[in-house]
Amino acid sequence: MSSFRAIRIDKDATSSTAAYVEMSEKDLMPGDVELDVTHSAINYKDGLAVTGKGPVVRRFPMIPGVDLAGRVTHSAHGDFRPGDIVVATGCGLGESHYGGFAQKARVNGDWLVRLPDSLTPARAMTIGTAGLTAMLCVLALERHGLSPADGLSVVTGATGGVGSFAVALLASAGWRVAAVTGHAAEAEYLHSLGAGEIILRESLASPGKPLQTQRFAAGIDTVGGVTLVNLLAQTQFDGAIAACGNVGGMDLPTTVAPFILRGVSLLGVESIRPRIALRRAAWARIAADIDPAMIDSMMEIIPFEQALERASTIVTGKIRGRVVIEISHA
Ligand code: NDP
Repeated sequence: MSSFRAIRIDKDATSSTAAYVEMSEKDLMPGDVELDVTHSAINYKDGLAVTGKGPVVRRFPMIPGVDLAGRVTHSAHGDFRPGDIVVATGCGLGESHYGGFAQKARVNGDWLVRLPDSLTPARAMTIGTAGLTAMLCVLALERHGLSPADGLSVVTGATGGVGSFAVALLASAGWRVAAVTGHAAEAEYLHSLGAGEIILRESLASPGKPLQTQRFAAGIDTVGGVTLVNLLAQTQFDGAIAACGNVGGMDLPTTVAPFILRGVSLLGVESIRPRIALRRAAWARIAADIDPAMIDSMMEIIPFEQALERASTIVTGKIRGRVVIEISHA
């Protein structure tokens, strides 16, 4: 059994600590596909996990890293062969199953998607859970039968990870996009992603009437709370909002009015364990729709040796764009 390098979180009676360690392949958790991990990325959840600031890790010890990409080295799963380049996001990685902050991983093949040719592992990690979630929202709106011909779309938390990809993916699918942000100074960035208009966050932050002037045919909401309530109140007949986040609150103090008087739909989106067919469809659409130059403009690549320090800084809000970890096997 060969050894490999990993970041591991261990817990004692009082606290958890994260450190670089050498592990053996026999320490890996059960799974039918083994990989050399070549890239991971730093998500907010990983920051919470390595700093112990949030209850992300559900068993100890744990290798953090909710997203990973790499090369298959061994497979007992019918869909994968050695040499395949694959990506996995969510599925409990970094929470209940060893994640991507390591040179090796052993996972369930049903969590893997073979990377489309146009996406490198580094680009896939730039997209990561955030981009996948945004794409799942777009697919939910499309399954609902909505298209750009229906009117204006809206994205909340637009400068965030999910929001940025949501703006870009809706725009590349032909939608006119209104981007809701608390950062007026980021208007130029949002226009560069494809937003046609900017709405300031404050205008949706206070409780309003159950039914308001109809503005939006479709929306992607990362905020929840009163913001989502106002989006529903401003959604036109038969429109829909795909809800995936709660940065503004877990509650939803709404009435049934938008649903029963305007036929508005609220579509829930969950990216951790979507059906495998849906996950594969989402990655294929991302590869087809997203401009590689836009992905590259968001990407910062760091070596594995810097991953622990950078993961600790994400919880202080000091990371913008996507930090991709390159994991060498030399
Ligand atoms: P980010 O922190 O990258 O972005 C969140 C954005 O929301 C910020 O950039 C800001 O954008 C806006 N925002 C922040 N605080 C508030 C507030 N109090 N009220 C209104 N807007 C606010 O997060 P992500 O994009 O990674 O994640 C967004 C949400 O989606 C989170 O709740 C996350 O947990 C959830 N999520 C859900 C997934 C799922 O499977 N359902 C998967 C991934 C994420 P601006 O300044 O432009 O307004």
